[in-house]
Amino acid sequence: MNTIEMYEHMGISPEVLAFGGKILDGLADRFAEIDATAEVNQLKVLAAMQKNRVAAECFTGSTGYGYDDIGRDTLEKVYADAFGGEDCLVRPQITCGTHALALALMSNLRPGDELYSPVGKPYDTLDEVIGIRPQKGSLAEYGVTYAQTDLLPGSKFDYEDIKKKMNERTALVEIQRSRGYAGRKTFTIDELADLISFIRSVKPDVKIMVDNCYGEFIEDREPLAVGADIIVGSLIKNPGGGLAPIGGYICGNHDMVENAAYRLTAPGLGREVGASLDVMRTLYQGFFLAPTVTAAAEKTAVFAAACFERLGYHVSPSSTEKRGDIIESVDLNSKEGLLAFCEGIQAAAPVDSFVTPEPWDMPGYDDQVIMAAGAFVQGSSIELSADGPLRPPYRVFFQGGLTWPHGKFGILMAMQKMYEANLYDKGLLC
Ligand SMILES: *Cc1c(COP(=O)(O)O)cnc(C)c1O
Repeated sequence: MNTIEMYEHMGISPEVLAFGGKILDGLADRFAEIDATAEVNQLKVLAAMQKNRVAAECFTGSTGYGYDDIGRDTLEKVYADAFGGEDCLVRPQITCGTHALALALMSNLRPGDELYSPVGKPYDTLDEVIGIRPQKGSLAEYGVTYAQTDLLPGSKFDYEDIKKKMNERTALVEIQRSRGYAGRKTFTIDELADLISFIRSVKPDVKIMVDNCYGEFIEDREPLAVGADIIVGSLIKNPGGGLAPIGGYICGNHDMVENAAYRLTAPGLGREVGASLDVMRTLYQGFFLAPTVTAAAEKTAVFAAACFERLGYHVSPSSTEKRGDIIESVDLNSKEGLLAFCEGIQAAAPVDSFVTPEPWDMPGYDDQVIMAAGAFVQGSSIELSADGPLRPPYRVFFQGGLTWPHGKFGILMAMQKMYEANLYDKGLLC
């Protein structure tokens, strides 16, 4: 079978395939830029692995206390060098992104301190960590207060209010790089540079932490290069390269990383304990693949943006905007549109392709939510996945794609399902 026959065999009609091909013709320059970023990031990771003499013995792992775990200790040096930090904590004991962020916050704030976000409310799962929604063990319970400045229209920084809100108790500034699932824009490294230098001009010694989830390897610099003290993220997103089965990292200032290590285990033990079990090879190999895997996910997002723009939908970011993460949103304008899109993503998956995603009442949400994912690693969002609440404008958020051909197939399948349900004007495909 040739490629066209193969796509047809997989359920993509020639019209949808040809439309995708036409859209791709216009993206050559954009894809070349993405490849160029992946190239320099690949060299950065490789250089860090060579400098730290990664060897087969790093992959054996440890059990019990995990004393003298050379694989674990070397991986932390590799991460630190690749991300441009003094130090790094990378552990399978950090269970997810929220845990990594909570760890970084709780270990670097003390009773009486104030946590401050200059970019609006942080990621939803931090509500309970901070105590915006009351919860056992929150920062609020420990006497850490919270303040924020909302973004101005157009996702601009409100410098005047930032100056007003920062005070003698402001101890740590949290900046979320990615939009997450909010309506705002994702910040580029240049934008973060402006914000961080302003914050330093107001309060030079304040600790600055960037929630780097979904942002790793999108640009050729990470936020540490423009003055952040620490960056924090999840290994089942970009830096795990799809292979890491669990884990998170905290990278940057040595003292802040040490504080996190003592909080993760116990005062006095810190990073000396923590067996790496059997996951070390996947963490190394995943980090090695992460620059090109992230590039695949970014190409998928750009391709989708260009396709759905052409079909008349509102997308964000647009296909020509500079990106800061791998998340794309499309307003599908109807319940049927949202369901068909998610059905397509699910049908294109390597795992669980035979199930049909159903809307469900997710705890904490007013509206039903639909999710599509067929992932090798549960909940992994560097793998192609999509979700959205069933309410106008029926906005789907999607991200990931371990390989570009798979990402492309997923988007074609989403368009195919919508085509079959007559959800857009078929004339637009010509
Ligand atoms: C995913 C994400 C988190 C939380 O990570 P989990 O692994 O889902 O707990 C926090 N912040 C941002 C910006 C994220 O994208």
